[in-house]
Amino acid sequence: MRYVSTRDTSKTFEFKDVFIKGLADDGGLFIPETLVKYGENEIRDLKKLSYSELAKKIVYPFIGNFMPESEMSKIIDKSYSTFRKDNVVDFIKIGDKTILELFHGPTLAFKDVAMQLLGNFYEYYLNNENQKINIVVATSGDTGAAAIDAIKGKKNVNIFVLHPDNRVSPVQRKLMTTGKYENVFNLAIKGNFDDCQNLVKSMFADKQFSNDIKMSGVNSINWARIIAQSVYYFYSYSLVENTGEPTNFSVPTGNFGDVYAGYLAKKMGLPINKLIVATNRNDILHRAISKGSYEAEKVSETISPSMDIQIASNFERLIFDLNNEDDKQTSLDMKNIRENGKYLIGDDKLNKIKENFLSASLNENETLDVIKKVYEKFSVVLDPHTAIGYGAFDKHKLKGNNIVLATAHPCKFPGAVTKAINLKSDLPKELEFILNEKEEYDIVENNLEKIQNYIKGKIK
Ligand SMILES: *Cc1c(COP(=O)(O)O)cnc(C)c1O
Repeated sequence: MRYVSTRDTSKTFEFKDVFIKGLADDGGLFIPETLVKYGENEIRDLKKLSYSELAKKIVYPFIGNFMPESEMSKIIDKSYSTFRKDNVVDFIKIGDKTILELFHGPTLAFKDVAMQLLGNFYEYYLNNENQKINIVVATSGDTGAAAIDAIKGKKNVNIFVLHPDNRVSPVQRKLMTTGKYENVFNLAIKGNFDDCQNLVKSMFADKQFSNDIKMSGVNSINWARIIAQSVYYFYSYSLVENTGEPTNFSVPTGNFGDVYAGYLAKKMGLPINKLIVATNRNDILHRAISKGSYEAEKVSETISPSMDIQIASNFERLIFDLNNEDDKQTSLDMKNIRENGKYLIGDDKLNKIKENFLSASLNENETLDVIKKVYEKFSVVLDPHTAIGYGAFDKHKLKGNNIVLATAHPCKFPGAVTKAINLKSDLPKELEFILNEKEEYDIVENNLEKIQNYIKGKIK
């Protein structure tokens, strides 16, 4: 399979470039030239597979000559052996919905599903290429922990994680800062998540610096993450599907990565009816899908911090799709967004979006209310992100198999859970030890030069 950029389809790339670069040099996102399509019978056959076997089947065509299939099989088995469930994910049926629990990996959020695989892809690639790289990533809490767990102790790669000082929950921070690995560096930035993200963007844009340190990124635009995430849509469809009933997914959304993975699964033939884009008060995607105007507002802090985002980077992939894969039009649209902060979606395109997506936004009280009601009715504790996914279904009343993606374990967000139900959600036993481990991180000013010097100093 070959890849192109959403802003220039004249050049093609191998998976290797796509994976290591993350972002195309023209600023666009990578997209495969063609997709493997699965027919009804093939999808029925997929039902018989374990999670890892299914992952091998779905992932292989995308990575082509990056590695032999036997090597990929080993890597997938190894990646998913770190999960607390044999089949990676778990399901619980509550009322008329199914909760798809994606948080049974090492750092208690769905991001582990893709990141564990990426970590092993890096290891394979670097062993063969004989080169050293440095991953630099900004996090509001979950991405950093998942990336660190995937990279810790691996050869030829360092990871630098920037989190906003004092703005991640203690459990989120401990998951990042308690491992003692020589290749992991935690920086608490005196600023907010946007500051962290801007610092990383500036470091990538500084070609001298990014080439010097062989900088690589693992944020949610990385195509390898999208592929890995599409697997659980296939897996849960097979397990939950009742013949004849439509299947819908509600996805707590920030950067449009996870829900885009569902859309990819649909494009590959999985008969998904609707994907609900569920957001908190930072509702740019809800406004875009319901009203046709994609327009950034100020980010506000919420009890679901992993979705406190105003620019949904992966949305460019959908824009490219709506433009019938026209790279020139997509470049123009993205330029308008950059310069005017706005993209107006015409009626034709909006109708196309609505064939696949619905959206909803929950405010803080509504989110707390869902956590409370679900706990009282079913004795299940949802984390605030998952609660938004759950509540989004109730705003649409769709018939059929309704699957909510549970993106994080509730113990990661004790503030919201206690506020809603006056209860503490404990860590899984295997992870309790982190509460007493020594933490290691450096508090650093929100200053590009200082941070670049910090990084250079560490990799000498
Ligand atoms: C990252 C994250 C999200 C949002 O995922 P996107 O791919 O950015 O849409 C939702 N919930 C949790 C718990 C997360 O960590």
